[in-house]
Amino acid sequence: RTAAPRGSWSSESSGSSGPGEPRYRVVLLGDPGVGKTSLVNLFAGVQERDPLEQHREAVYERTLCVDGEETTLLVMDTWEPEQPPGIPRCQRGRGEESWCRSQCLQVGNAYVIVYSITDRSSFESASELRIQLRRARQAEDIPIILVGNKTDLVRCREVSVEEGRACAVVFDCKFIETSAALQHNVAELFEGVVRQIRLRQGGKES
Ligand code: GDP
Repeated sequence: RTAAPRGSWSSESSGSSGPGEPRYRVVLLGDPGVGKTSLVNLFAGVQERDPLEQHREAVYERTLCVDGEETTLLVMDTWEPEQPPGIPRCQRGRGEESWCRSQCLQVGNAYVIVYSITDRSSFESASELRIQLRRARQAEDIPIILVGNKTDLVRCREVSVEEGRACAVVFDCKFIETSAALQHNVAELFEGVVRQIRLRQGGKES
């Protein structure tokens, strides 16, 4: 099944099901350049990005069959990290940017926090994001998957698998390493998201 790009999250007001299969919003978080768009494009079945259409406001919808049951994920690649003062970004004002960030932290039914195994600072940002998320959604038990991407770049590795795994234990989330370039573990990542959501729904699904 091919995925459809969606206009914005505002049209999707609640996490789960209407009639038919359950649907959930999954938000990708992480530093620029870690591979979020590449991962979501693989999820969505997009072969190559049209260079004229490099919009960041992408929400992709796809129904996955996991363990014999269908679940629809709306995957949002909309995260824009905070910039140090003085660096201009797109056409947005700072107020709108921080509104977008707080929306991202509020609307997800599950989160995928991505770092690059070749970039230690992105790993540190991932920890920071986990803390922000915990602060924003204190009482909730939201599924979070920590993803170390770019495993194909073996010689440039700065973050070991063990460090990634240990971080996930500390932050009480799942962990997987992927390579968007080799399409390794990407399907497993999104299937894992579905399983984590189902675990927490615990029989609430119809
Ligand atoms: P985003 O800013 O987090 O959305 O990152 P992008 O998906 O735009 O990727 C940033 C750059 O990293 C692009 O040049 C991608 O082709 C590259 N990239 C993404 N994932 C991988 C990967 O698994 N391996 C390698 N070698 N490059 C990757």
